[in-house]
Amino acid sequence: MDARTTHELQEAIMNRIQHILLQNYGQNPDSINQNNLDAHLAFKGDPQLNELRLALYRIKKGTYGNCIYCKKPISIDILRRSPTAHFCEACAAKLSAHLKRSKLQKRVS
Ligand SMILES: [Zn+2]
Repeated sequence: MDARTTHELQEAIMNRIQHILLQNYGQNPDSINQNNLDAHLAFKGDPQLNELRLALYRIKKGTYGNCIYCKKPISIDILRRSPTAHFCEACAAKLSAHLKRSKLQKRVS
């Protein structure tokens, strides 16, 4: 993934975080940036925010955008739709088939 796309997705993730903090916690989004994000751990138990925070962590580590299962790059289209996606299309399909079989209805994207 090129730096511009990474930056674009990082912005999208930050926007989602700020949106959630404003909507659910009444926090002023302007006061939150990547450097003080961890100080805003009032949302520690919030699964959506944790997902987003994890995605930012993966960007920092340089592993963002790769499937956590097969390590292949996840398509940019998927990441644009769902910036916290962990799986490539093939693995997501396999997993969802597996979940269906085991009758677990939990969403995995
Ligand atoms: Zn995969």
